[in-house]
Amino acid sequence: MKKLLTIVVACYNEEDALPYFYKEIRKIARKMKELDFEFLFINDGSSDKTLEVIKKFQKKDKRVRYVSFSRNFGKEAAMYAGLEHSKGDYITLMDADLQDPPALLEEMYTYITQEDYDCVGTRRVTRKGEPPIRSFFARMFYKIINKLSKVEMVDGARDYRLMTRQMVDAIISMSEYNRYSKGLFSFVGFKTKWLEYENINRVAGETKWSFWKLFIYAIDGITAFSTIPLVISTIIGFLFCIISFIMILFIIGKTLIYGDPVSGWPSTVCIIFMVGGIQLFCMGIIGQYLSKTYLETKNRPIYIIKETSENA
Ligand code: UDP
Ligand code: MG
Repeated sequence: MKKLLTIVVACYNEEDALPYFYKEIRKIARKMKELDFEFLFINDGSSDKTLEVIKKFQKKDKRVRYVSFSRNFGKEAAMYAGLEHSKGDYITLMDADLQDPPALLEEMYTYITQEDYDCVGTRRVTRKGEPPIRSFFARMFYKIINKLSKVEMVDGARDYRLMTRQMVDAIISMSEYNRYSKGLFSFVGFKTKWLEYENINRVAGETKWSFWKLFIYAIDGITAFSTIPLVISTIIGFLFCIISFIMILFIIGKTLIYGDPVSGWPSTVCIIFMVGGIQLFCMGIIGQYLSKTYLETKNRPIYIIKETSENA
């Protein structure tokens, strides 16, 4: 019997890109005759005609399935839903904008079947077409997170990857609410082969990520995979205790020797500001972890389904 490959596609307002995308994946499905295909579209609460477009595909093509959310839950939630609903022996995650070239699938598949890799990931080696500041901060983020976390994060890694059922089941078993997939993929282990390619611009529509959204996402990534910031805040606190102790000794000595003329107001204010700032900063760090714990303990569902191709 032929093995089944599921292509999971998270779609948020992709009505323009989807027709191009669907054409490309049909092409690749025709080429890879050794496999059966399942196209699983996750409609992440799109406000445009994305769902209608998907339904149109589904009417004509038995391989198409979809899951539609009750609102926008974010790409992480959409990918999780896709993995949970996938039936394939092999599963791949792809963006709807053709920034993840479907043609690579053939090569990825040979690595999994012919060599004993469990996963083939892709990474962009260039960031052509991206604003330079964004690239700069992205690079910095990877440097920082790799210093802070034991789980390796590959710079430029995309979510586009082909995985075996076994690996996908491992990822599904991690049902945490604060999902940072790049970290989860490496956390589960398994043998991963990296394919490299140059950045490709999206075919249609526009990116859903603003700088601010990416910044928040970066902080989510750090808090999800490292507790080192907490250690750093402890160390800063400890250092300041030592400094203040030395200062107290110094002032006692100075007062004993030179008496106590009233002066030093500016320096006092500076110290208050600085210590206050550092305290708030460290409290902010703790707050980040606390808020993640809070959200995690509420145990809310990662996504809510409005309809699927099975019950439509
Ligand atoms: N996406 C999603 N939910 C969101 C934002 C994005 O499902 O809230 C999907 C989007 O439709 C696309 C993929 O995630 O298929 C990548 O999004 P985008 O191209 O905007 O990100 P970029 O490639 O710029 O990182
Ligand atoms: Mg994109």
